[in-house]
Amino acid sequence: MHLEGSCHCQAVRFSVEANAPYPFNLCYCSICRKTAGTGGFAINLGAKTDTLSIEGSEFIRTYHARMPDGSRSSAERKFCGECGTALWLWSPEYPDMLHPHAGAIDTPLPVPPERTHFMLGSKPEWVTVAASDKDKCFAEYPDEALDAWHERLGLQDS
Ligand SMILES: [Zn+2]
Ligand SMILES: [Zn+2]
Repeated sequence: MHLEGSCHCQAVRFSVEANAPYPFNLCYCSICRKTAGTGGFAINLGAKTDTLSIEGSEFIRTYHARMPDGSRSSAERKFCGECGTALWLWSPEYPDMLHPHAGAIDTPLPVPPERTHFMLGSKPEWVTVAASDKDKCFAEYPDEALDAWHERLGLQDS
């Protein structure tokens, strides 16, 4: 699925082909919460790095998350240096995959039939998990990759 995205101030616009466009994957880790989700989580999509096209790349800044031991994550969290919008996550360990933040996407996204809530062990008490009976919940990482979720539900070519 072709996705168009942008930051709030429009200094950065991008497009990418998503193999996993359903916004079902809710991450409650502290990094996502603080950098990309004040409601308690961020939603990561799955797209192909080699299809990424960017306008305004000079405005993009990169955050390497500070880890509990003081080291820095190798993953690159891209955001607009003008308005602070979280754009996407990219990790050198999985260079072919790009994870756009659903919140930065302007293309209407398909509505997920079920959702995955993960890193719930990191969520603060005040964040209420709105999980339906069909949703899956994990204290840490989920047991299913973005692609596998789409394949199981027959949604891989949308
Ligand atoms: Zn911006
Ligand atoms: Zn996270």
